[in-house]
Amino acid sequence: MATDGFGRRIDYLRISVTDRCNLRCVYCMPSEGVEWKQHDEILSLEEIERFAAVAVEEGISKIRLTGGEPLVRKGIIEHVRRLRALTGIEAIAITTNGTLLPRYAADLVDAGLTRVNISLDTLDPDEYARITRGGRLEDVLAGIDAAFEAGMDPVKINVVVVRSLSQDLGGFLRMTLERPVHVRFIEYMPVGGAEESDSACESAPVEGWTAADHVPSEEVLALLAEEARGAGLGELRPVLREAAPGGWGPARYYRVDDAPGTLGIITPLSHHFCGECNRLRLTADGKLRACLFSDEEIDVRSVLRSGGPEDVRRTIRDALESKPEGHNQRVGTVRRMSQIGG
Ligand code: SAM
Ligand code: SF4
Repeated sequence: MATDGFGRRIDYLRISVTDRCNLRCVYCMPSEGVEWKQHDEILSLEEIERFAAVAVEEGISKIRLTGGEPLVRKGIIEHVRRLRALTGIEAIAITTNGTLLPRYAADLVDAGLTRVNISLDTLDPDEYARITRGGRLEDVLAGIDAAFEAGMDPVKINVVVVRSLSQDLGGFLRMTLERPVHVRFIEYMPVGGAEESDSACESAPVEGWTAADHVPSEEVLALLAEEARGAGLGELRPVLREAAPGGWGPARYYRVDDAPGTLGIITPLSHHFCGECNRLRLTADGKLRACLFSDEEIDVRSVLRSGGPEDVRRTIRDALESKPEGHNQRVGTVRRMSQIGG
């Protein structure tokens, strides 16, 4: 079992398999796009698998694939199958914008991946096209259907709440009445856009992120509760941990009576949960990050290319040792979210 310098158990690895994406969400990528990494700067799938094999020996039992958009990476299905086959792996999950799930959901399940988080910030087609700079809402909705049809479980939807976007959160509440979907509202985070900054949220607007756009989850909950009452659905009730959809992160769940789905909130800023942090992140270009909000990285790529498993093991132990106790509301990171994987 791996523990870090503060006694936290680390069993969850998020792997960004690509920095590329078929969308350009306004809060994640600049309109001109980002300069893609060169082919040889990106870890090969075989290199990722070698890293994962050592990480599993060090106590990692859960892996989430992310990006960029993980489903645009060539060979992703067989990659899932090989990761799933590692002894000690309990589950593989994916975070995706969902647009390619109609094509891949059944193959992913066949390869051993059933846990899916689909990012969707609005149910309005025009606003969706605006937020994603050209995406089609119908593609994601078809992706959600495909996930259910393929038997994925749990199917979660991630909604990043941003004040200046038009999001009609009540529409997501109604989704939970129809099927066992778990919609999680995530606070907008100050990631990306900074060369170097250690200042507090309130005082340092970062390109693409301003404190004014941050909506505390308590406000989201109050709004959902009002929607539920207004629609005659009664009160939002907390879902006990045992009954909540199994997760690897710190979401808190609620539901209205008799709804098959749930509503969750994730509060990285207003109640940060660093004390329970259980994860490491591997970027597509092979840097190991111990904290989303810290730009301290360990170069795994060169170790994978010139060293053996014991050298790789050292990088993991170093990352565990260097994992900070908390993020202290730091604003801005040098990398953007699409380059870290969320
Ligand atoms: N392309 C995939 C997707 O969109 O799900 C995976 C990568 S994306 C970077 C992972 C998640 O990060 C998405 O749910 C996205 O909405 C979220 N995200 C991006 N920028 C964010 C920010 N500044 N604050 C909070 N979440 C953010
Ligand atoms: Fe692409 Fe996901 Fe970033 Fe949107 S949030 S631009 S889908 S990586």
